[in-house]
Amino acid sequence: MSTNTAHVPQRAEIAWGPIVWMAFLHLGALMAFNAGWFTWSGLVLCLVLHWLTGGIGICMTYHRLLTHSSFKVHPGWLKYVLTAIGCCASEGGPIGWVADHRRHHAHSDEPEDVHSPRDGFGWAHMFWWMTPDITSVHSPEYYKRWAPDLYKDKVLRFIDATHLLYPLLMGAACYVAGEYFVGNGMSWLVWGFFVRTVLVLHATWLVNSATHRWGYRSHETRDDSTNLWWVALVTYGEGWHNNHHAYQTSAAHGLDWWEIDTTYIAIKLMSYLGLASDIKVAKPEKKTAVTTSGVSAASIAEATRNAATTVKADLPNVELPGAIDTPDVLTPTGA
Ligand SMILES: [Zn+2]
Ligand SMILES: [Zn+2]
Repeated sequence: MSTNTAHVPQRAEIAWGPIVWMAFLHLGALMAFNAGWFTWSGLVLCLVLHWLTGGIGICMTYHRLLTHSSFKVHPGWLKYVLTAIGCCASEGGPIGWVADHRRHHAHSDEPEDVHSPRDGFGWAHMFWWMTPDITSVHSPEYYKRWAPDLYKDKVLRFIDATHLLYPLLMGAACYVAGEYFVGNGMSWLVWGFFVRTVLVLHATWLVNSATHRWGYRSHETRDDSTNLWWVALVTYGEGWHNNHHAYQTSAAHGLDWWEIDTTYIAIKLMSYLGLASDIKVAKPEKKTAVTTSGVSAASIAEATRNAATTVKADLPNVELPGAIDTPDVLTPTGA
């Protein structure tokens, strides 16, 4: 596996806003060393909100729902609530996140990838967003190129523009609730907001760094993606990343019996409650990917190719790679 490349992308200006915000979160997490602010209820809150914002907000909503359209949620407004929960992870707005991730899939471990460990492990983990490649600055043009389906949704655009508001509200709610219920608002603020956010951030970043470096590969893909159990553990199944690169629209990332995927379990539970449908699931042992409604991998692949061609024709000067799982056309017709 290559660890170096001669590629040196042109960097945009230093992203001071995100750097200051991330530094604030990391410094805030150091308050966990103050024993007076430790409570068991604060630790439980940390774990619950880690799952809610990281597992449900990022893994399930930002990634499997918004980026790859692996399933649908009902009623329609639920998508926006889940997206706002994703914002609480402090990983930026949904449209920018999706655009970056689709670009990652289109150019995985190639020079145009926004975060490949071939440019250095630290770069793939977190430095990439500090001095972003000049071609991946979050402009309306970038959004329209990589996430046109999300960009045309006015509600998603509003949530994207106000994404910082949601983690701030969650942090304030942690403090107020901590004061009210256990008389220690700082404990719930430190553990439910600062520590939890930093843990979610690094868990997500490990998918970009560790699961393109260490682990096993079940499928031949044109990138360095791997399956890594300990990353899967802290990312609710996202660590089965080689599976994901091989079957990008599959709502299930864990494909072998030992590959526990709690995000997929959550999606299935939602479907039992009538909150999710059209769940696409890869069946690699049959060398085909099917959805729960019976759409084959071949038809998905053909629809993707057609969509790439169609969207390309509709959007002049827009180079939409075929590797993007264009959402609308991947919807199973037999739902
Ligand atoms: Zn990847
Ligand atoms: Zn993905």
